[in-house]
Amino acid sequence: MAGVIRRLDEAVVNRIAAGEVIQRPANAIKEMIENCLDAKSTSIQVVVKEGGLKLIQVQDNGCGIRKEDLDIVCERFTTSKLQRFEDLTSISTYGFRGEALASISHVAHVTVTTKTADAKCAYRATYSDGKIKAPPKPCAGNQGTQITVEDLFYNVNTRRKALKNPSEEYAKILEVVGRYAIHNSGISFSVKKQGDTVSDVRTVSNASTVDNIRSIFGNAVSRELIEVGCEDASLAFKMKGYITNANYSVKKCVFLLFINHRLVESAALRKAIETVYAAYLPKGTHPFLYLSLEISPQNVDVNVHPTKHEVHFLHEDSILERVQQHVESKLLGSNSSRMYFTQTLLPGADCSSSEVVKSVANSSAVSKGASDKVYAHQMVRTDSREQKLDAFLQPANNPLSTAPMEATTEVNAASPEAVVRPQDAEMESVGDPVEMGAVREDTVMPGVLSESGCSSPVPSRKRPREDVDIEMEQEASREDMTAACTPRRRIINLTSVLTLQEEISNQAHARLQEMLRDHSFVGCVSPQWALAQYQTKLYLLNTTKLSQELFYQILIYDFANFGVLRLSEPAPLYELSMLALEDPESGWTEEDGPKEGLAEYIVEFLKKKTEMLKDYFSLEIDEEGNLIGLPLLIENYVPPLEGLPMFILRLATEVNWDEEKECFESLSKELALFYSLRKQYIIDEANPTSSQNEEADCGSTTWKWTVEHVLYKAFRTYLLPPKHFAEDGNILQLANLPDLYKVFERC
Ligand code: ADP
Ligand code: MG
Repeated sequence: MAGVIRRLDEAVVNRIAAGEVIQRPANAIKEMIENCLDAKSTSIQVVVKEGGLKLIQVQDNGCGIRKEDLDIVCERFTTSKLQRFEDLTSISTYGFRGEALASISHVAHVTVTTKTADAKCAYRATYSDGKIKAPPKPCAGNQGTQITVEDLFYNVNTRRKALKNPSEEYAKILEVVGRYAIHNSGISFSVKKQGDTVSDVRTVSNASTVDNIRSIFGNAVSRELIEVGCEDASLAFKMKGYITNANYSVKKCVFLLFINHRLVESAALRKAIETVYAAYLPKGTHPFLYLSLEISPQNVDVNVHPTKHEVHFLHEDSILERVQQHVESKLLGSNSSRMYFTQTLLPGADCSSSEVVKSVANSSAVSKGASDKVYAHQMVRTDSREQKLDAFLQPANNPLSTAPMEATTEVNAASPEAVVRPQDAEMESVGDPVEMGAVREDTVMPGVLSESGCSSPVPSRKRPREDVDIEMEQEASREDMTAACTPRRRIINLTSVLTLQEEISNQAHARLQEMLRDHSFVGCVSPQWALAQYQTKLYLLNTTKLSQELFYQILIYDFANFGVLRLSEPAPLYELSMLALEDPESGWTEEDGPKEGLAEYIVEFLKKKTEMLKDYFSLEIDEEGNLIGLPLLIENYVPPLEGLPMFILRLATEVNWDEEKECFESLSKELALFYSLRKQYIIDEANPTSSQNEEADCGSTTWKWTVEHVLYKAFRTYLLPPKHFAEDGNILQLANLPDLYKVFERC
C-alpha cells in the first residue's frame, strides 16, 4: 500500500534545513564570529555552557545592528551584505547568504542585544523559528552585539542525541576560535566556560600572529616557525603564513587554512604541501601549517554549502604548484644558509673577507653587533647548527632506559612488589596539550634535520604579560583540560608564576646564552661534564647543573602545560617512601619514628595534593596512592627513575606547601633535581669495571646520546643560563684558539 505523500510542514522543513547548516555548536560559533568580524569588531568574547549545547554567548564591540533591522535579522535570506547575485563574485565579507542566524533561530532560542554608535541605548530581542517574538526592548548595553543561543537543538532530538559529549564539542569550539584568533591578530579573542575565571583560549589585541600561535599551540611550535609569503598576479592569488621548519614534527598534521579569510579545508593543498615536507621530516610525522590564501573572488566557489568546508578554486593545480615551490624554497632556505656557510669555508675557498659571515642570511651569527665580527682567521670549521649523523640513530629504548633499568632492578630487589618495572619502563605521553611526541619507540624524532638558524633568533623567555591577575583556576575548567584533545596552551596569569618567570629572565646571562645557543657539542667527559666549542673557545660545562636549571625553567615557563609520561605500572607511593627512608641519604634516624608510620603519612599527605599536582605539574597520583604519571618536560627524555623514591620523600618534606610562590618554586626545584642527569645514575660511572663488556658500552652510548641530542639540543633553545654559572665553575672556559696559536708560535 502506497503511503500518502504529504507536503511537510514549513516549520519542519526549516528545521531540517537549519540542522544541515548548523551541525554542531562549533559551526554556530564560527558563523557568529564571522558576523562579528564583518561588523569590524576588535574584541570577541565567547562564553559557553555544556560545550555550547546549553548556552553560547558571543559578545563583540562591532558596529551593532540598527533597531529597525532587528525585526528581520533572523529571517532567511536577510543580509546587509549582498544585494544582487552578481555581488557574490566580489564578496569581501564572510557572510552573504543571510542564512546563519536564521538557521540558528530554528534550532535554538536566540537573543540579540545590540547597540549601534548613534543609538541612545541598546535593544534586545528574542527569536524563534526565524521570527522576532516581541518588539525590541530598550536596555542598557555597550556598543556592539551580544548574541545568546540557548538550548541548541532543543527541538531536534536526533541531533541532540548525536552530540552527547559536551567536552568534545568544547574542544571543537576552542579549535575553531583559536584558529580565527591566529588568523586575526590585532583582534582579541577569548573563550571560556560560563562561571570560569580563566579563559581556555585568549589572545590580546597587540599580540602578533606568532604570539597567538604560541599561546594556542605552545612554544614547541612557535619557536620553529618560518614565515612564508608569495603571490602570483597571473594566477590572481596571494599566500602568506607560517610553517614549521624541519626541526619540528608531530604525528598529526595541524593545518590552519584560510581562503579569503574563511577557515576552510583543502585536502588537495594539504597533500601538496605534505609531499614537500616528506623529504624533510621523519617518516610518518608532519608539520604545523598556517596559511592564508587570498584568491580572486571570481575564482573561488564561495557559494558552497556552509558545512562544506572543502573548497575548490580555479587554476587549482597551478596555484598548488606555486605554493609547493615556495614552501620547498623556504624549507631549503632554512638549511641552505648553513650550507653556504660551510661551503665558503672549504679549503681553497676565499675566506679572506669577514663578509662571509654577514652574507649568511638569517644566520644567528649575523644578528650580533659589530664588535662580534668574526674574522676569517678566527673562523673555526664547525657550525653549531650542523647535526651529526648519529642524531638519527636514536637508541631503540628510551634514551635513558639503560640507566633506569639497572637501578630499578635494585628497586625491585628491595621490594618484591615491583615499584617501577624496568622491563616495561615504557611510558607514553597522554593528553598532551602541546602535542609533543610520545616517548616511545615510534617517537617523533625532533630536529632530524638541522637546527635551523633561520626562524626566530633568541627565543625570548618573556611571554606577554597581561595586566590582570586571574585567580587560581576552578574545578570546572580543569575537567575540560583533560577531556579536550585539542592542543592548546593554557594562559597562566598567576602572579606567583609570572614573578618566578621574571626572576629567571632577570638572572639570565646574555653572553652565556649566546654561547649555549650557538655552541658545537664536542663530547662528554663524564656523565656530569661535557665539552663544547663556541667560536674560538672551548668550554667545560656541568651537564648536571645545566640540566637541572633547564628543567626548572621549563617547569616555570610551561607551567600547567605539560604532557604526561604515563608509568606503565602504577608506582605505590608507600613503597617509594619506604625505599627512600631506607636510603642513608634520607638522614632517617630512630628519633624520627618508625619508617612505616612516616611512609603512611607521606602517602596521605600527598594524596591531599593530587588535584594541584596533576593540574599544574602533570604529576598524577591515583586514588590508591600510586604515582601514575610524570610531567613530560622535553621530548625523548625520561628522568632517571632511580631518583624517584628520594623525589617522593623530598616532595613531602622539602617543599614549602604554605605559600603559593614558594610552593611552585620549591616543587619545581625538587622536580628539576629529580629530572637532572646525575652521574650516580649512570651505570658505567658507578661501576667502571662493567664498562669493559659490550652491553655496558651500549648503555654509555645511550646516555651520551641523550646528553648530546636531547639535553644540549634543549640548552640551545630553552635555557637562560643564570649569571652565577659564569662564576661558580659550572661553565668554564678552557681554551681560546688564538691564545693557543700564540703558545704554538713561541714553541
Ligand atoms: P550574513 O552574515 O550572511 O549576512 P547572518 O544570518 O549571519 O547572515 O546575519 C544576518 C545579518 O545580521 C547580517 O547581515 C548582519 O547585518 C546582522 N548581524 C549578525 N550578527 C551581527 C553582529 N555581530 N554585528 C552586527 N551585525 C550582525
Ligand atoms: Mg553571517
